[in-house]
Amino acid sequence: MSTIDLRDWTNEALAKLRREAARSADTHLLRLEFDGFPGIDFYFKDEAAHPTGSLKHRLARSLYLYALCNGRLRPGQAVVDASSGSTAISEAWFARLLGLEFTAVMPACTAPRKIADVQALGGRCDLVDEPSQVYERAAWHAAQGACHLDQFGLAERATDWRGNNNIAESIIGQLAGEPHPEPAWVVCGAGTGGTSATIGRYLRYRGLHTRLCVADPLGSAFASGWRSRDRTAVADHSTVIEGIGRARVEPGFVFEVVDEVIEVPDSASVAAMRLLEEQLGRRYGGSSGTNLVACLQLAARMREAGQRGSIVSLLCDPGERYDRTLYDPQWLARSGIDPVPAEAALRATLASGEWHPYA
Ligand SMILES: *Cc1c(COP(=O)(O)O)cnc(C)c1O
Repeated sequence: MSTIDLRDWTNEALAKLRREAARSADTHLLRLEFDGFPGIDFYFKDEAAHPTGSLKHRLARSLYLYALCNGRLRPGQAVVDASSGSTAISEAWFARLLGLEFTAVMPACTAPRKIADVQALGGRCDLVDEPSQVYERAAWHAAQGACHLDQFGLAERATDWRGNNNIAESIIGQLAGEPHPEPAWVVCGAGTGGTSATIGRYLRYRGLHTRLCVADPLGSAFASGWRSRDRTAVADHSTVIEGIGRARVEPGFVFEVVDEVIEVPDSASVAAMRLLEEQLGRRYGGSSGTNLVACLQLAARMREAGQRGSIVSLLCDPGERYDRTLYDPQWLARSGIDPVPAEAALRATLASGEWHPYA
């Protein structure tokens, strides 16, 4: 293919992505109130509402744009990435849009529903036994000629952090008419670190005083790395919460823009995930629960200090993906997770506004 033809193909691929973006709507910012927290408004951005069901829809679009604009993606080239599932679903969807073959390298323990979703979109799944093997395996595919979208390496830079309706610009815009338009806190998880990097940068860029909190599963690498500013930190616990709780400090973790990290045990994330279902009338994934726990801990602190204000967080993906895992009581029992004591503690917090540590 000549360089002229290649440029035509790239232009056409970019036009397809632009049209997809134009057809897409923004996601809802849902508002919640809790009895124990008068004067504190909670907002949850419903990223499960994207066509591919998670906040990774934004990332996948950005990663394809980045590969195309860097001249790294050619017609007929296979595409590969390492993923815990959500990204793979979104990347498979965009691969189909662009007419490209896609392979997801995922841990074998990934929720079966996510594996089925990738396959239903025409993607292939290359499953590895050890989650830590995904990076090497994806690099192997790249060495065979595939274009490596490289979410873990590139998420933080592929997203246009200054605007372009990135998640932070959208949130701040949607809050404009609310009682507390400049949130006291934004709470998010860290998988690639892309979301926290984009939000943290945007808050500074806009000159806001909003602080950023990362909600991380107990004992994960972000938390220990952030505390000691040590990029070689590793997790000392594994987690069943998919999408976050990485075992290593990913290249896209930008510690400097994060003001606080709250560690959440899996049992509390699962309990909070169930509370979200009660509050919102639909199911969301485990990392949304992790976010809610951190929101409540921060709200209790604000209440104690006599502060009013707003706290914003994310609903990252839909609960149906976890029917056979986090929403299956037998699976939870087999995995040694009992959300009941944490649920009681969180309910007490919702009612009283005081932080009740889990049992
Ligand atoms: C990726 C992901 C996150 C974390 O977002 P990053 O931008 O990758 O840090 C949280 N929850 C779910 C379900 C995810 O897939």
